[in-house]
Amino acid sequence: MKKSLPFLFLLIMLAGCNSHEAGDTNTKKATKPEWAIVVHGGAGNIKVNKLTAKRKKALQEKLSEALAAGAAILQNNGQALDAVETTIRVLENSPLFNAGKGAVFNSEGVNELDASIMDGLTLNAGAVANVTTIKNPISAARKVMEVSPHVMLIKEGAERFAQEQGLEIVDPSWFYTKRRWESLQKAKERERNKLKNQTKKSGTVGCVALDKNGNIAAGTSTGGMTNKKYGRVGDSPIIGAGTYADNSCCGISATGHGEFFIRNVVAYDIAARVKYNNETIQTAANYVINNKLKALNANGGVIVLDKNGNITMPFNTSAMFRGYQYPGKKPKVFIFHDDEEKNGE
Ligand code: ASP
Repeated sequence: MKKSLPFLFLLIMLAGCNSHEAGDTNTKKATKPEWAIVVHGGAGNIKVNKLTAKRKKALQEKLSEALAAGAAILQNNGQALDAVETTIRVLENSPLFNAGKGAVFNSEGVNELDASIMDGLTLNAGAVANVTTIKNPISAARKVMEVSPHVMLIKEGAERFAQEQGLEIVDPSWFYTKRRWESLQKAKERERNKLKNQTKKSGTVGCVALDKNGNIAAGTSTGGMTNKKYGRVGDSPIIGAGTYADNSCCGISATGHGEFFIRNVVAYDIAARVKYNNETIQTAANYVINNKLKALNANGGVIVLDKNGNITMPFNTSAMFRGYQYPGKKPKVFIFHDDEEKNGE
């Protein structure tokens, strides 16, 4: 008996390690919640003292508002897909994020937007890329998924389709913001001076939700990267790179240097590790972001939500705007690495 006690203790410790990993980039639920929602507003190398208190507050409030909008749908027995679309629309309509209204400019001074959405129940997916007139690209991605037999529509074709579907079409100038225009001018100046392009800008948005029926949905929306070449498409509208959802394991939305996320099939790699290797989402996502991508000097992060309502949000930059909400709880939002230790559950 005496001998078996330490052994029992060791077993409990090991079991605990498996199911209750914790740390500054993840959170675990002991029991499966009725629903869950997680959001990101982009990852980047932002210095703590460079983010003004006013901007920080505005970002936190908008992320909380977006989470609450999605959470209300889930609480009222709504679908994960509706929660994801609604949450992302809130962020697309804000000039604070690099998606919709706040999108960055490409090298020709045009806002070219990309978005995708995936349904974890059916593995159906939809995406739009390189669109310049669709006010809410995430809604166009959803229409592509639900109304067309295709997965991705681009440019004028996507715009014509969105209009036919009754989505709001705006003049490209609607996406102009002074802040993003100035970022483009700075990027051009760096280019002229042959300086390395800075990849500290952030703001892509994404959301993953788990509804009361156990369905998972994921979506991502972005303006891409400042000064990107005209016609460039990043990972955000690529299913398996920037977005993935499968009810049998988890949902993922990514943000970061898209070319690396495409080459490493980031979202699907994480889902496959969980599905076929039985890794926890923490182990899988942490490996991909902090080992695999970091070794390539690729900046970014992901939000992941599994079928049991567990959430992980690793990133290899100094900041990632992010947050989550569970039933009966207020939205929790974070920016820097140690924010979860300070403000987490
Ligand atoms: N992943 C996006 C892209 O490469 C940018 C970002 O998330 O910051 O288009």
